[in-house]
Amino acid sequence: MANGESESGHPPDLMNKLTSLCKRRGFVFQSSEIYGGVGSVYDYGPLGVELKNNLRQAWWREMVHRRADIEGLDAGILMNSRVWEASGHVEGFTDPLVECRNCHRRFRADELEGVQCPSCGMSGTFTEPRQFNLMFKTFMGPVEDEGAVAYLRPETAQGIYVNFRNVHETARQKIPFGIAQVGKAFRNEITPGNFIFRTREFEQMEMQYFVKPGTDAEWFEAWMERRMDWVRRLGITPERLRFYEHGADELAHYAKAAFDIQYHFPFGWQEFEGIHNRTDFDLSRHQEFSRKKLEYFDPASGDRFLPYVIETSAGLDRTLLVVLADAYAEEEIEGEKRVLLHLHPHLAPIKAAVFPLVKKDGMPEVARRVADSLRESLPVFYDETGSIGRRYRRQDEAGTPYCITIDGVTLEDESVTVRDRDTLRQERVPIAGLRQHLQAALEADPL
Ligand code: ATP
Repeated sequence: MANGESESGHPPDLMNKLTSLCKRRGFVFQSSEIYGGVGSVYDYGPLGVELKNNLRQAWWREMVHRRADIEGLDAGILMNSRVWEASGHVEGFTDPLVECRNCHRRFRADELEGVQCPSCGMSGTFTEPRQFNLMFKTFMGPVEDEGAVAYLRPETAQGIYVNFRNVHETARQKIPFGIAQVGKAFRNEITPGNFIFRTREFEQMEMQYFVKPGTDAEWFEAWMERRMDWVRRLGITPERLRFYEHGADELAHYAKAAFDIQYHFPFGWQEFEGIHNRTDFDLSRHQEFSRKKLEYFDPASGDRFLPYVIETSAGLDRTLLVVLADAYAEEEIEGEKRVLLHLHPHLAPIKAAVFPLVKKDGMPEVARRVADSLRESLPVFYDETGSIGRRYRRQDEAGTPYCITIDGVTLEDESVTVRDRDTLRQERVPIAGLRQHLQAALEADPL
């Protein structure tokens, strides 16, 4: 362990540094900040929304566009409340809640270490745990009675199950095939925290893969491998990744097997994606509660069966935290400190920044022209304020892979320098070939 590093190998005090960088540079803001914020909801600023869109798109490309056997879906957040009875969430989507009788703070009993209150320090003051349902409840329509109760979905998966027949019939897929969806989910977490790690409103990227019973174990393994491979391709440090298998006592009510993909955060090893064998639990429950047949007829064998489901369930915001935490680095270059985000170029919010070396001699005009022409195909940032060193450092912090500078030589031969964020190498490239040069560099490592 290098001096000052945490056990996970991250720079010291990373979470605070990351939170402050995210706010300072416009990646992530606390929701409703001018009103003092709101419990654990975050807003994504100009750079954050680009990063999040890029990550979502990379997942979609991997899980939908690259696969003939997976279809996309975008189901509503509000659903018939019977869905949540069938899924088991009304009854069982709970965490054990205890309250400290002294300071009245509430905690998740399973996250407490010992009998001492983490807030006021008193011992033996906890109430008996009671089961607290994490679903947000509201009313659909103008009458607020029991019959109008609706829930904000706590996971996106159920929207997929209830559309199983619609998708299978309209897309004419044969088993095995999958349905993928990205969207908001809401959980009234008792103890949110660690920045965007655990929030009450978040996005999930989920895929349900429908298979013939008996082939589920094989598909489970295949999906474990594929998902880990994708996470590695994002550029996440392999030593900070591992699988964690749920023991029999930890398995969710629907699951036959479950593995988490965990990341070694500065606050410990934690899950950011789960791969679950959900058996035919969900489809059989929906079949029972809706009284609609959800069986699959296999034309080849003449068999009729309820498919088993292998689920891959990732948090978009939580994966984004993994990406940010892993990308953050502090370096010293010729006695000067720089902070940078080693983001995979496909995830970087800005692909290239364009600077005139000085704000005179016609350099700004050329630089603007270069920036405008690149903007047709790439997100580009133009900056002419401050020393060139400062402008480079600002882009390093935003994770911009390339900085293009227009200097005295440009005025003579129409070439620019292209600086690489990671190697700091600069090369001269003719303006006429610049777009192609950047595109080739970005495509060298596809996601
Ligand atoms: P945890 O044990 O952390 O509460 P979980 O096991 O309930 O999570 P799942 O229901 O398997 O999580 O959800 C799948 C993924 O959704 C998680 O791996 C995580 O990335 C994301 N996720 C779940 N809850 C939250 C939350 N409150 N905030 C942000 N992301 C979340």
